[in-house]
Amino acid sequence: MDTDNLTAYMERKGVKPTANRILVAKILFNSDRPLTLSDLENMLVSLDKSSIFRVLSLFLTHDMIHAFEDGRGVLNYEPCKSKGECNLSDAHIHFYCESCHRSFCMNDVPLPSIQLREGFVPHSVSFVIKGECPQCGKRIRPVSCMSGRRVC
Ligand SMILES: [Zn+2]
Ligand SMILES: [Zn+2]
Ligand SMILES: [Zn+2]
Repeated sequence: MDTDNLTAYMERKGVKPTANRILVAKILFNSDRPLTLSDLENMLVSLDKSSIFRVLSLFLTHDMIHAFEDGRGVLNYEPCKSKGECNLSDAHIHFYCESCHRSFCMNDVPLPSIQLREGFVPHSVSFVIKGECPQCGKRIRPVSCMSGRRVC
């Protein structure tokens, strides 16, 4: 998403597009995977952690982004794909790699349908599967290994 599209998106979500907010949004909306606060901190050398955190909190309250806990209990942030207020249409499974500590969106994997008890209204869904990503699997496992485990 370029700056013009982002500015329009922010205005639709009721967020005033300031320079810092556009900087943070640009990284989040152009990333191919969810990012943590420290990922953003490393990518945005011009902003300190507390400024980034303030921007993220504002984005969250305006349904511009979603946050979920990865396998370590660290929050990951990603753009909300719903128009206007989030309606859960963009809920999806996440995969957390325990080797490289990256999270991946599994948008193409259907969420299991969950029938809640009467009176319970869901506002968000968090579904995280922990394991090893293809990149890490390839790197660690020797070609000749037959067991498929890390140590063999
Ligand atoms: Zn959403
Ligand atoms: Zn990995
Ligand atoms: Zn995601």
